Amino acid sequence: MKKVLTIAGSDSCGGAGIQADIKTMDALGVYGMSVICAVTAQNTMGVEDVQDMTPDIVRAQIDAIFTDIEVDAVKIGMVSSPEIIRVIKERLIFYKAKKIVVDPVMVSKSGYHLLKKKAIDELKGLISIADIVTPNIPEAEVLTGLNIITEEDMKNAAKNIIKMGVKSVLIKGGHRCNDATDILLYKENFLVIPGKKIDTENTHGTGCTLSSSIASQLAKGFSIKESVILSKKYITKAIENSFALGKGVGPVGHLI
Ligand code: PLP
Repeated sequence: MKKVLTIAGSDSCGGAGIQADIKTMDALGVYGMSVICAVTAQNTMGVEDVQDMTPDIVRAQIDAIFTDIEVDAVKIGMVSSPEIIRVIKERLIFYKAKKIVVDPVMVSKSGYHLLKKKAIDELKGLISIADIVTPNIPEAEVLTGLNIITEEDMKNAAKNIIKMGVKSVLIKGGHRCNDATDILLYKENFLVIPGKKIDTENTHGTGCTLSSSIASQLAKGFSIKESVILSKKYITKAIENSFALGKGVGPVGHLI
């Protein structure tokens, strides 16, 4: 069985973060492992509190895994602080980690800042060692300073982000009003991946699920392009299978 590591934050209500990552990996038939960078106290209505792990315990978790187990792919999600990001980058380079997917998590749908603003430069450094980075439109705007409205703007942002050293960029269009077309920049070619908006409020954990799916498919040996196409299908089904939970925004559904 292929082994996939998520380095991210815990979501107590189980819809996003580490919990979404492990559910996705399980559904896709790979073995999921986790390095926890932060614990969030959150429910379907929002994030109440966050406790960052220390950089030392993040390092210790990474060391524990890489000194024992062969890791086939790594997904990085909520990484919180500049100090934690520096440790992750240094350790992944040290262990020559392969197939790295960075989901540049910044702000939750409920508006909570999951990444400290001063960590943006470190995050760009982490992106530089990745095989693919998967920003949504607001994240791509922060990374590039561009205002993104049209598909052409998404392509320009992708070209801008690729200059950071990452091998490929997937700009997710889900934040646009009328469609959910994504743009992949891969080996100097653009791939437009059409997607239509699904009528639901229950979209908690979409970004985490998509990036974990990409890491899982890469681990199984699919190319970046194939992994992204398979993962677009997975997240579309998961949003179609989303459900109400609690009083707020429910999670996507992981169907096997
Ligand atoms: N909580 C954690 C730990 C996350 O990693 C993320 C997103 O990556 C979120 C919350 C936000 O999820 P959403 O914006 O889908 O509600």
